[in-house]
Amino acid sequence: MKVFERAEDLLHIHSELGSQKLAFIPTMGALHQGHLSLVRAAQDMGHKTIVSIFVNPLQFNNSEDLLKYPRTLEHDLALLEAQGVDFVFTPTNEEMYPTTTADVVVDLGLLDSRFEGAFRPGHFHGVVQVVYRLFKYVNPSEVFFGQKDLQQCLVIEQLIEQVFPHIKMHRIPTMREESGLAMSSRNVRLSSESMLKAAEISKSLKDIATRKEEFCEAVVWHAQRLTQMGFEVEYLSCVSMPWMDALECDHFSKEPNGSNGPQNAVIFAGSLNGVRLIDNWVF
Ligand code: AMP
Repeated sequence: MKVFERAEDLLHIHSELGSQKLAFIPTMGALHQGHLSLVRAAQDMGHKTIVSIFVNPLQFNNSEDLLKYPRTLEHDLALLEAQGVDFVFTPTNEEMYPTTTADVVVDLGLLDSRFEGAFRPGHFHGVVQVVYRLFKYVNPSEVFFGQKDLQQCLVIEQLIEQVFPHIKMHRIPTMREESGLAMSSRNVRLSSESMLKAAEISKSLKDIATRKEEFCEAVVWHAQRLTQMGFEVEYLSCVSMPWMDALECDHFSKEPNGSNGPQNAVIFAGSLNGVRLIDNWVF
């Protein structure tokens, strides 16, 4: 496994690919099995893999969150090596944000002002800028993102459609603990009691997704249930893709699975004892 800090060193990678394609998995480190599932998905398709580890300051709207974000580089590198990753890119802030590079402009429609966009102002601007730069540096033919960050996937799909139409995007299902809790780098900040409570999020999402015509009542009921358990709920909603329009109570799609795959999702964000958690259930 080769580890690079500088973007210019990545140029050599392409001569080492042979007939294989280069699959890219961007991360912010503090790696867990969820991240590794993206790597495995790329390897299973026969691609060479490159993982980036960069905690992107531009996408944190809360400086305390940035400060507290777990950083475990040595452990991350050991995990990636054991997983058989080919290349790792660990750039510095200066490498990612040279003063000479202009921001890219991508039309995100209402994605930028809804849900994560509304609760984390500037977040998707930061995501788009960092992923744009990473795609430019790495020049992959396939990229792998986790459905755990569903709205981020939809934003990246716009970036790809508008700026990198030659790149193929893969959305990989969420890896969960046995309890159903979505794996996340932030989970290390949860006490064991909070971990148990946090597992209730996915139970609520799953229940709402199976309620069909009664989903609006179920949303209200589960928002109250989670609040009573100690969550500060930011949003709990049923939305359609790709723009995350809220589903109308009397407009539940009875046949959500069209030819393009699942169309709807129940989405959640909220804090438990100061730790912000997001999850979703696609149906
Ligand atoms: P992050 O390091 O949190 O920026 O995540 C890097 C990538 O891993 C993103 O595409 C995430 O959506 C994905 N990811 C994070 N957690 C999970 C999970 N539990 N299952 C699948 N993918 C995940």
